[in-house]
Amino acid sequence: MGRLFGRVLDLVYPATCLACDRPLADADTICSTCFATLRPITAPYCPVLGLPFEADPGSGTVSAEALADPPPFRRARAALVYNDPAARIVSRLKYGDRPELAGFCAALMAQAGADFWAAGPVLIPVPLHARRFVHRRYNQSTELARALARRTNCACRADLVRRIRPTRQQVGLSATARERNVAGAFAAHPKLSQILAGRPVVLVDDVYTTGSTLKALTRCLKRAGVEHIDVLSFARVVSDEAIPI
Ligand SMILES: [Zn+2]
Repeated sequence: MGRLFGRVLDLVYPATCLACDRPLADADTICSTCFATLRPITAPYCPVLGLPFEADPGSGTVSAEALADPPPFRRARAALVYNDPAARIVSRLKYGDRPELAGFCAALMAQAGADFWAAGPVLIPVPLHARRFVHRRYNQSTELARALARRTNCACRADLVRRIRPTRQQVGLSATARERNVAGAFAAHPKLSQILAGRPVVLVDDVYTTGSTLKALTRCLKRAGVEHIDVLSFARVVSDEAIPI
């Protein structure tokens, strides 16, 4: 009965590519054409910022960016370089167009964050402000964090930090303006450090652009007594040409 129902569903909703809607044999994945255009971030990369290196500078070498402006978090990792196909996936994820996309993204993110899972971290999605959440009814970072939690057997807590004031959209702002825009935007749960009980945190976001939001959130958690904070995003901007929408 279950199988018959499954086949009926296949007829009504044939499987299509999560990125371009081309018909596919399998559900919940993307077509080979789209897959070929994705740029996974693999070693060698900066151990701090996760920025891919063109050539291997030798193990332990930190990027110039990380040296010039050390981030408050320990390590950042991302599954993909933010390019056109990645942007299409992120935009579909953001507007809840294909809810099954979160599972696909989480599979790639689980690999990118492979160094994080052994420590049993708590996954915390970057919160939207309540007003934006009502408007959109959907927080893509929470969907990613939940899908990641299922895959990695880590806990996911979307209730430990909230946005206390609305922030302007980050689009079109310089790095400094972005930082000013998000400073003091977050508040941690008053019992945060008791709830975490020493467990490390992995902050989850869809796109890492300049990192200003993730840095502000990290600082907020540090003030609340959390020591070990890593960040994981689905995609990250690598050149400053492609600033996402
Ligand atoms: Zn496709």
